Amino acid sequence: MSNVKFFQEDNLPLEMHKVRIVQKLNLLPVEERLKAIQEAGSNTFLLRNRDVFLDMLTDSGVNAMSDRQMAAMMIADDSYAGSETFYRLEAKIQEIFGTKFFLPAHQGRACENIISQVFVKPGSVVPMNYHFTTTKSHITLNGGRVEEIYIDEALEVTSDHPFKGNVDIDKLVALIKDVGVENVPFVRMEAGTNLIGGQPFSLENLREVRKVCDEYGIMLVLDASLLQDNLYFIKTREESCRDKSIREITREIADLCDIIYFSARKLGCARGGGICTDNAELADKMREFVPLYEGFLTYGGMSVREMEAIAVGLEETMDLEVIDQGPKFIAHMVRELEKRGIPVVTPPGGLGCHVDAKQFVDHVPQEQYPAGALAAAIYIAGGIRGMERGTLSEQRDEHGNETLSNMELVRLALPRRVFTLSQVQYTVDRLAWLYENRRLIEGLTFVEEPKVLRFFFGRLKPVSDWQLKLAEKFRQNFGDSL
Ligand SMILES: *Cc1c(COP(=O)(O)O)cnc(C)c1O
Repeated sequence: MSNVKFFQEDNLPLEMHKVRIVQKLNLLPVEERLKAIQEAGSNTFLLRNRDVFLDMLTDSGVNAMSDRQMAAMMIADDSYAGSETFYRLEAKIQEIFGTKFFLPAHQGRACENIISQVFVKPGSVVPMNYHFTTTKSHITLNGGRVEEIYIDEALEVTSDHPFKGNVDIDKLVALIKDVGVENVPFVRMEAGTNLIGGQPFSLENLREVRKVCDEYGIMLVLDASLLQDNLYFIKTREESCRDKSIREITREIADLCDIIYFSARKLGCARGGGICTDNAELADKMREFVPLYEGFLTYGGMSVREMEAIAVGLEETMDLEVIDQGPKFIAHMVRELEKRGIPVVTPPGGLGCHVDAKQFVDHVPQEQYPAGALAAAIYIAGGIRGMERGTLSEQRDEHGNETLSNMELVRLALPRRVFTLSQVQYTVDRLAWLYENRRLIEGLTFVEEPKVLRFFFGRLKPVSDWQLKLAEKFRQNFGDSL
């Protein structure tokens, strides 16, 4: 385990890699940042990347690849059917997860589409530790319902609970009894629970969930998209796993699940996805959907180059010195923000740092999307692109009423091994400035509101000229500086 100690600085994360290819960045003056965010309808998804300095929108498909991944891409075997590349990837997955069958798909949500079409029926109820946006949409589209059975600590912004992604076992049992076991096609566990701040579940909790599934004869499905962070947290936070290798922990997790699916835009540090199972019957049920929606069974909509990169990326995921980079940088950023009094989700999770907009802009009502407003303000303050994870990311109910989100977060994702420590420090500094001037931030209102997944492409505008005032204040404080 990497355990470098600094002489003077406490706990600074140290990069266990060197940078060999770089990309030039561009930081626009604040006036142009203001213009860009207004042209983007105050939605950070609609910004053009050339207008973004630090892109912390997501960790999806933007993680730094290793030299070995790039090298593997050169030996990819291009063929529609029977590509050697597929067999290499399949073998790596068999080795790591111990699952015999691998169904390739072009990304994580494609796996969710297939799993939901096969197993979710009108009236189905799918219990899970927490939903993810695309998961919920697919389950709902097939007539099912999502039930979240997280522990009480899950939604506490500041907590020292090491495993906020755990399921409340009593609530799980009660729910199954309540809705009837015949209506529960599977229980879904999400590794590194995305929407509550990249929070992990413990191996012990997964074992308990498995026990309940066995008792009632229900399948257990793992969304392993953020497994690498969850593995790191199990290794470092779960006493009984201290002496286990990442490989051993991975295998124990996989052995507890009937189906594992993942987005290789995160797990495996490339672009793609797939469904893994050791159960021939389950594989048979899902298989026909691969050529129907994705592509032939030996590529599933992925490029063979990406598949080679995923195989190597999965192997590299078994190395603690590779997977600890993300969580360590995030922990550093969280500590620095806390030092400045900025409300942020604790304990630090995986995938990014989550600023609590409910506290940051406690004067903005939830109906005016405080997290969306804060995300726009962060872009104006520093050219930093984060993502709203709050009411804006929800969907209106059948009567058209807002579904107020449990949490109002701005996620500043740290794509793995992409940013330097000084870029993290710059982000902390701009957030500190914004926090001092938080009273200038006001809400947003929709101009164009799509019915489904509105956060992706909806357009909004500020409720007043607050964005202009914020940019003017920046100019007063920073002078000619960017
Ligand atoms: C990103 C993500 C998905 C969807 O994966 P895509 O590759 O973006 O389609 C599903 N579940 C979780 C937990 C994710 O983080």
